[in-house]
Amino acid sequence: MLRVYILDNGVLKTDKNNVVAGATMCTRTRPFAQHEFYEMPVMSVLIEHDNGYLLFDTGSNMHSMEKGYWDEGIQDIYELKQSLGQNIEIQLATCGVRKEEINTVVLSHMHFDHTGNLKLFKNAKVYAPKADVEFARNAFAKGDSTAAFGYHKPDLELPINYTLVEKDFELFKGVEVICLPGHSPGVLGLVVHTEKSGTLIFPMDAVYTKEIYGPPAKASGLVFNRTEYFASIEKVREIAKKYRAQVIPAHDNEVFKNLKKAPYYYE
Ligand SMILES: [Zn+2]
Repeated sequence: MLRVYILDNGVLKTDKNNVVAGATMCTRTRPFAQHEFYEMPVMSVLIEHDNGYLLFDTGSNMHSMEKGYWDEGIQDIYELKQSLGQNIEIQLATCGVRKEEINTVVLSHMHFDHTGNLKLFKNAKVYAPKADVEFARNAFAKGDSTAAFGYHKPDLELPINYTLVEKDFELFKGVEVICLPGHSPGVLGLVVHTEKSGTLIFPMDAVYTKEIYGPPAKASGLVFNRTEYFASIEKVREIAKKYRAQVIPAHDNEVFKNLKKAPYYYE
């Protein structure tokens, strides 16, 4: 049994330059470029497997927009829009799953839009990229607000006994975790081999959009380490070629529209 459900957690509305670096920059051939807003879909991936229910990223939660939870800097740049039906518990319910049934969580990285509902999954074993958890914790410990931007302190302070990941491994039969650093110090992607739909790759923020993926690959608005960032995109491309896989970028609203979404699934 291996089913892949894509859960819809709403959108983050932001300046397009935060998605594709320099997207609306004026140039000689485009002297009157206009700023544009872009609505980045926020998704989580639920995998139903013989080993139980795995949730890849815990998405965002509308409560985070309440004053005092997400800090104002984040709220100002990334406005979350989420209907009641896009709440993660309701999304899970459409698949017939309760939050208590999630026994495994994989966090792609620790940025606020990917860890938003983490506190709901206390029963789960939680995997996270070691470099990202350590970087965020250090930034908060040092009071370095620039480095800490994008991380939400209360999510990092939850009493979770993380299994910290430093290298690629097979988590369940047909489900591989791969390391794709660069967007942030640590990013984990998922490679899922299904019977009928072939291989699906979820690189999360290593690949924001189809435009970012290229080729040629482009920088997103947020890049922690450029060398690692571009190497990770090429790593995704290699794996995609090997398995003739479908690459599903994290935040592409056109791609997202055309995906099968919960309660429908890939199998
Ligand atoms: Zn993101």
